Amino acid sequence: MLSQEQAEHVRKQILEQLEKLPQEEVGDLKKEIQEASAEELEAFIGQLQKAQKLTKECIFCKIIKGEIETVKIFEDKELLCILDIAPASKGHALVMPKQHVQFIQDIKPELLAKLFHFIQSLAPVLIQVLNAKALSIYIPQGQLAGQRVQHFFVNLIPRYENDKVSIVWDRKQEDKKELQRTAEIIRKAAISKIVKELEKEKEKLLKHEKAKKQEEAEKIYKHVKRRRV
Ligand SMILES: [Zn+2]
Repeated sequence: MLSQEQAEHVRKQILEQLEKLPQEEVGDLKKEIQEASAEELEAFIGQLQKAQKLTKECIFCKIIKGEIETVKIFEDKELLCILDIAPASKGHALVMPKQHVQFIQDIKPELLAKLFHFIQSLAPVLIQVLNAKALSIYIPQGQLAGQRVQHFFVNLIPRYENDKVSIVWDRKQEDKKELQRTAEIIRKAAISKIVKELEKEKEKLLKHEKAKKQEEAEKIYKHVKRRRV
């Protein structure tokens, strides 16, 4: 556990680093670091070190940093779209966030929205320019699901007649009661959690808006006060 003195030292160092980054990228992080307890700061450093280690070993991160050559379709500050070097079919593209995260739950909602907005625009174009008949959009999550690289990515696989791409499974008949039981398990655990998370997000947003309004009100107040003097 960090002592208070160590924590202050670490806090100062992190804040200095954050100053060097574009402010729109930093967002609320600066405030979070300013207000974090020693324990929270320690957890933050732990996460950072883990992320750095993962980034160092990750093939996609190496591609993003330009250490491994690749065929790029699109790139901006946050997203990268490349062609798979061992494609399932002609035009097999991979879309990923530049930040190293493995699972969908680790991506910030705004970035995930941007990523899917990009896919929404690219999907029909891919089909059209490649004369494909359809498109498989496939997101493996975990090794067993075929996630070869532990960096979140979406496969866009253009589909052609007899392309021998296989994303199929046996369709088993399931007992209705068993379906009900499964649904109940998911509903009980997941839905209440999701609703809670959405409410938390909403609260955060409202707090942010309130703070912003207060800031504006203070600005106006100062302005009026100055004019009075
Ligand atoms: Zn990575």
